[in-house]
Amino acid sequence: MKSGFVYIVGAGPGDPDLITVKGRRCVRHADVILHDRLIHPGVLAEARPKAIVIDAGKRFGHEDQQQAEIHSLMIKYAREGNEVCRLKGGDPFIFGRGGEEVAILKAAQVPFEVIPGVSSFTAAPAAAGIPLTHRDYTHGFLVITGSKSAGFDTPEWRAARDLLKARGTVVVLMGLARLAAITESLTSNGCDPHTPAAIVSRATWPDEQVRIGTLGKIHTQATGLSSPAILVLGNVIAFGRDMHST
Ligand code: SAH
Repeated sequence: MKSGFVYIVGAGPGDPDLITVKGRRCVRHADVILHDRLIHPGVLAEARPKAIVIDAGKRFGHEDQQQAEIHSLMIKYAREGNEVCRLKGGDPFIFGRGGEEVAILKAAQVPFEVIPGVSSFTAAPAAAGIPLTHRDYTHGFLVITGSKSAGFDTPEWRAARDLLKARGTVVVLMGLARLAAITESLTSNGCDPHTPAAIVSRATWPDEQVRIGTLGKIHTQATGLSSPAILVLGNVIAFGRDMHST
């Protein structure tokens, strides 16, 4: 039996030019491409005409079912001797269940390589001119999920609140649907409502939108924004704002 291979590739935040050279090479070379939702058509257009391209974000039922299906397809196609490109948004190891996919491949003894991508946690602030660190503002940042599965009474959220109080930067992914609850939990736990805040929606896509405000008010400014979106909190936003106004 020919032995196949799986490349777990980060496709970047949207703009098809923001995939790595190595990632693009994998897309061009793959026999099978198994991709997430929200991969730019310009990236998929690089696939060989004969490649099997499967939209894994659309096809199968709810999230866990979908993930199980992705695992079995990766293994099946690799065992048939194919080069599989598992194409994931941003960086595969940032909130993308990439770790689970690697564990499954290891257990199945399918050889693989992870090709990192430009994560939205850095691309979205960059698109808005917001540096996550700046020697005059802060020396650290924290990235956290705002998704429903995690409550706010966790060590991570406590660390996020402490960092904000120390004027550091906090980046929240998957937080748009729960924005009001997230900002309320921060202000009611001692974070300054005047902390600068920004939302970057659909960063690096043609319909990208940026809203700049404060922790206390950003949820009212975010109405009408589409996902995916990122919330950035912290003093560095003042730097971004100054950059925008010049
Ligand atoms: N692995 C991805 C993140 C997956 S979680 C990465 O490294 O970027 C999905 C979340 O990523 C979304 O809810 C949103 O918060 C963020 N996101 C992904 N693409 C984005 C984009 N183009 N603009 C803003 N946020 C984005």
